[in-house]
Amino acid sequence: MSEDWKNRTKMVHGGVRRSQYGEVSEPIFLTQGFVYDSPEQAEARFENSGEDEFIYARYGNPTVRMFEDRIAQLEGAEDAFATASGMAAVNAALSSLLKAGDHVVSARALFGSCLYILEEVLTRFGVEVTFVDGTDLDAWRAAMRPDTKAVFLETMSNPTLEVIDLKSVAEIAHEFGATVVVDNVFATPVFSRAIELGADVVVYSATKHIDGQGRVLGGVVLGTKEYIRKTLEPYLKHTGGAMSPFTAWILLKGLETLDMRVRAQADGAIAIAEALQGHANLSQVIYPDLPDHPQHGIVKAQLERGGTVIALEIRGGQAAAFRFLNALKIVIISNNLGDAKSIITHPTTTTHQRLSDAQRDALGITPGLVRLSVGIEDPSDLIDDLTQALAAV
Ligand SMILES: *Cc1c(COP(=O)(O)O)cnc(C)c1O
Repeated sequence: MSEDWKNRTKMVHGGVRRSQYGEVSEPIFLTQGFVYDSPEQAEARFENSGEDEFIYARYGNPTVRMFEDRIAQLEGAEDAFATASGMAAVNAALSSLLKAGDHVVSARALFGSCLYILEEVLTRFGVEVTFVDGTDLDAWRAAMRPDTKAVFLETMSNPTLEVIDLKSVAEIAHEFGATVVVDNVFATPVFSRAIELGADVVVYSATKHIDGQGRVLGGVVLGTKEYIRKTLEPYLKHTGGAMSPFTAWILLKGLETLDMRVRAQADGAIAIAEALQGHANLSQVIYPDLPDHPQHGIVKAQLERGGTVIALEIRGGQAAAFRFLNALKIVIISNNLGDAKSIITHPTTTTHQRLSDAQRDALGITPGLVRLSVGIEDPSDLIDDLTQALAAV
């Protein structure tokens, strides 16, 4: 690849490894292992395997490597390791880095399973975690300690879409020598330059925008060659969170159209947010690219656009929110996001059901709140659908 290619070109051609047949579409190497010409070759490969040398699909596979190389090129990361799901990526990114006695500072507004790893899993192994309001830089600074090994945050929180000042949090963390681990799903690889802004480790659930068509689960961890090969790879290859070659092939196809889909989704999102703002049956329209969003300045400085997700607060609580969801004709009720299809979720009763009322209150998740992941449909059809359903509330 050429270093000067723009991202849209990298999304199509980055990381390709053609076989002797010169195929156009990336081949799927559905093989668990690889044959050695001799025991000497096997010995040499176990000692130190080169770029095009593979051992076992849990360690790496040519199709998976193509996906890893392509996304590393997009992110401007030195290296990447793909995983079976986004959660396998979050778990490995943190668990490979931390040991008993280490301290972590994390934003409080997290995807439920990320919260589970920090609150329930890591603490069981003697890692201490301090949660802070991610938008409060003084709180980040106050929580840092000499033994703080890592900070963790989601650039844009789910489902209330708070945007974190990644650049400033990374500066604070680096003063204390802590590794900055970012779950960048909501910001997307299209709109965020997390590594340039100071992230040391970037994690994606590829299940979301990268596939973007609701077909597979996948994840990826990106970082320096040193971190990926010395810290993360030993953990992942021995604990088994590897991505399947078939999934990698689907995700390579997803990456080809990622830029176009995500931009079309963001165009739809801003059009919907503007059209619904001030609607009599809505008490709030939350979208990071609206001028009244509390972190609009950070969006403008650190993200190209406001992403593909909107939060709407329906007047009348849960009953009204359910009437709204039941009246929708195009937008489907499900809990994925980043998909080509527009998807709506009622967090209180689904993704955030496990939390107490007090925890939900603290995160701004009210019974009337719904999360809309905007797809690639014609925005005017979506606005019509949402408007007719709001009339039914
Ligand atoms: C979906 C999601 C995950 C988990 O990804 P899976 O692929 O479902 O395991 C992690 N973080 C965020 C922010 C997500 O939206």
